[in-house]
Amino acid sequence: MPIAWIGLGSNLEQPSQQLLTAFQELAQLPQTQLRQTSRLWQSKPMGPQDQPDFINAVAQLDTELEPLQLLDALQQLEQHHQRVKLRHWGERTLDLDLLLYDQLEYQHPRLTLPHPGITQRAFVLLPLAELAADLYIPGKGRVSHLLDQLTLDDFQGVLPLEANSLSGL
Ligand code: AMP
Repeated sequence: MPIAWIGLGSNLEQPSQQLLTAFQELAQLPQTQLRQTSRLWQSKPMGPQDQPDFINAVAQLDTELEPLQLLDALQQLEQHHQRVKLRHWGERTLDLDLLLYDQLEYQHPRLTLPHPGITQRAFVLLPLAELAADLYIPGKGRVSHLLDQLTLDDFQGVLPLEANSLSGL
């Protein structure tokens, strides 16, 4: 069965809870099994800085959904979370990115695989490395190698969330 890797992010309306709920919803997708989830990570926003920090995580799925079917399902989940997206790289209740689908390289108006943001984003690579440091990203290299390429600046503000602080977010 194909393996898909999903990047999750939220910085509105109890972000940690948004992600924990999203894990359960991913587990309930048709023809899909949730295999693993990373810890929750806190990160500084990439775009405008006058918005709350993000909570990020990665999930591994086994799925028989085709890539575009899976993207449709992810976008429905985003809608279900009454996703608010006010501006580019701005705040949102739930963002779901299809990071990787097996070793597929794919270009479509709605879907680029692997997700082009993987390589530079510590808040994607760190949770991904927790689950699969040896995972090969087609055309880019292994997750562990990509992490080695980041600068200290790229890691600024990216921290695993302590379990005991979950309730406050
Ligand atoms: P964003 O809200 O910034 O996550 O961007 C969502 C848009 O990116 C949607 O229009 C998607 O069709 C498109 N997109 C392209 N490639 C991907 C991908 N690998 N995962 C999620 N969305 C994607």
